[in-house]
Amino acid sequence: MAGEFDLIDRIRARTVARGDVVLGIGDDAALLQPPAGMQLVVAMDALNAGIHFPHDTAPADIGWKALAVNLSDLAAMGATPAWCTLSLSLPEPDAAWVDAFLDGFDALARAHAVALVGGDTTRGPLSVCVTVFGFVAPGRALCRAAARVGDDIWVSGTPGDAAAALAQWRAGGTRDPVLRGRLDRPTPRVALGLRLAGLAHAAIDISDGLLADLAHVCGASGVGAEIDVDALPVSDALHAAAPDPDTRRARQASGGDDYELCFTAPAAAQHAIVDAAAGASTRVTRIGRIVEGDAVDARTGDAAAWRPASGGYRHFQD
Ligand code: ADP
Ligand code: MG
Repeated sequence: MAGEFDLIDRIRARTVARGDVVLGIGDDAALLQPPAGMQLVVAMDALNAGIHFPHDTAPADIGWKALAVNLSDLAAMGATPAWCTLSLSLPEPDAAWVDAFLDGFDALARAHAVALVGGDTTRGPLSVCVTVFGFVAPGRALCRAAARVGDDIWVSGTPGDAAAALAQWRAGGTRDPVLRGRLDRPTPRVALGLRLAGLAHAAIDISDGLLADLAHVCGASGVGAEIDVDALPVSDALHAAAPDPDTRRARQASGGDDYELCFTAPAAAQHAIVDAAAGASTRVTRIGRIVEGDAVDARTGDAAAWRPASGGYRHFQD
């Protein structure tokens, strides 16, 4: 068993170096130099074992996901990530677990040049809490309250894959590793968010399900939305896992944990959005539009009203 300081040494040894970290891990607090004229963007998300990830999740996947869900929040603001802190609560001071956790955490931190600048290490039930810090130019952040009547509604990637993996995990039968990969290693859409800043109006990342998260945008903006659930793109893996159209729609429209971006943009920006998505190597699909009102109206391709059979997203307890 390792001591707390041995664990911190292991963490410090692997952190990404950045010139704007004046003083990183090792003192009472970090000293950071934000770029002149930029706004600081801060987000925090905790992951608890058995609630936010299944108990059988590999430590490297927990490390990846803990950072990914936070970077996703920065992406949804159109911010450039820079730094993060990490609060780790571990049942045992297990160096092998921490090394494996860091394999996943570090892979994503390096990909986005995010420096881990501090944190806290305690004993307790397995829980990981990350705070990320990033920058955005004044006036360019993608806020939930910025949707306007007439905007197109867009979504990135193929929502529903993570929910399909979770359904397979619950059922205990066939488990498609591609879908499980989408649940354990979501891709934060940072490059897309950066290209959408100044172009899109409102944005949110899909953590609780598309309809629920879009309802947050509508509530904040004082507008309604019309969605064609059959316009949502379907991955091959989801198609195979959920051949029944209504089950598939439920995964896509009300499944959680995809960490795709849902955003609105003026209709005149359509070509620019497609170019932005191509520049970010990210698939985007137009799925509806913002209307007057206060409700999210979901319809199938033949214009029938559509509602999920059960409520929104549930965590992993049952
Ligand atoms: P203090 O008692 O002053 O809070 P700690 O012993 O908790 O100091 O931490 C020592 C240093 O290690 C600090 O710089 C802290 O930010 C860093 N640190 C502790 N745990 C972590 C962690 N899980 N990830 C990153 N940095 C950590
Ligand atoms: Mg401390």
